Amino acid sequence: MKDSYGRNIDYLRISVTDRFNLRCLYCMPEDIDLSPMSDILTFEDLASVACAAAKLGISKIKITGGEPLVRRDVCHLIRMLKDTHGIDQVTLTTNGMLLGRFLTGLIDAGIDGINVSLDTLDRGRYGRITGHDGLETVLDGINKAAGSNIPVKINAVSVDWDRYFGTSKADDAPAIPEDVKALIGLAEDQPVDVRFIELMPIGYGKDFPGIPHDILIPQIKALYDGMTEADRRGNGPAVYYKIPGYKGRIGFISAIHGKFCNECNRIRLTSKGYLKSCLCYDTGVDIKSIVRQSDLGAVKQERLVRAFEQCILSKPDSHSFTQKEKITEKLTMSAIGG
Ligand code: SAM
Repeated sequence: MKDSYGRNIDYLRISVTDRFNLRCLYCMPEDIDLSPMSDILTFEDLASVACAAAKLGISKIKITGGEPLVRRDVCHLIRMLKDTHGIDQVTLTTNGMLLGRFLTGLIDAGIDGINVSLDTLDRGRYGRITGHDGLETVLDGINKAAGSNIPVKINAVSVDWDRYFGTSKADDAPAIPEDVKALIGLAEDQPVDVRFIELMPIGYGKDFPGIPHDILIPQIKALYDGMTEADRRGNGPAVYYKIPGYKGRIGFISAIHGKFCNECNRIRLTSKGYLKSCLCYDTGVDIKSIVRQSDLGAVKQERLVRAFEQCILSKPDSHSFTQKEKITEKLTMSAIGG
């Protein structure tokens, strides 16, 4: 359905767990008090939710977390969502640690695309960022996924790791980081899109040095001869470029320096059942209380549809990430799901 600003909302991100198997510094660096499983929406809850969402024209779902692959039987959930009338596409975002193990199950469940979050190809740095020596495991998962027919995207958040780790002086002349060059290299031989996501001032990310995309994009363009803008495809806001001879594309999701709120097509559901209309604000609708009511299915469905309508109609015209005093979201990105 259309929101109050005429945007068509057809995409729902569902966080299926608050559990993690990595401890990324800018996202979820330390152990948190985990919610009891009774607070987390069950697969049956999520099936009702998807059904209601589809009635309003939501046709694409992204499974996120926490780390979605640590949720037991997540492939079964994906199959349930794929079987929901009106849902055309179910995709997943993962840190890749368990991708190799679950790839066949994901493919059998009908997954339509896999995003892998990966910020560096330097093994030592990967360990420092994520708290685990898991780079090879992730790369192995990516290679296997890229060898299947499933579209694979790599998502890297544009953090200035050199500055964070003190390997370059803050006042150094801007130079394209080695991490960025290495990640771009992944698109050379494999049909994977490598996308850079501008760091948003949410959760722990607030305290990290981002690389603004008005600096990063021209640097990359200057380095890769013949890089040209490619057709837009996909669900979202990424602007894609092609580098001659590369199998995959390079994409930029620039929430700050390429604000795309006028094209925003999404809402988000936390694992505890809070439906959010925008990353920047804490406003939303609690739908757990609706799915857990003992009403008959039809009554519950109707209430869920109304809750989705309420959330979509309350979607603000834009975020305020550059005016920090206006950001009301207190949840971390790990609780929202990105
Ligand atoms: N564990 C899954 C994964 O790694 O894709 C899903 C959850 S994770 C919160 C989703 C995405 O949000 C990851 O790509 C992560 O890098 C990104 N992210 C976390 N904090 C961010 C921030 N402050 N700004 C932009 N992206 C962020």
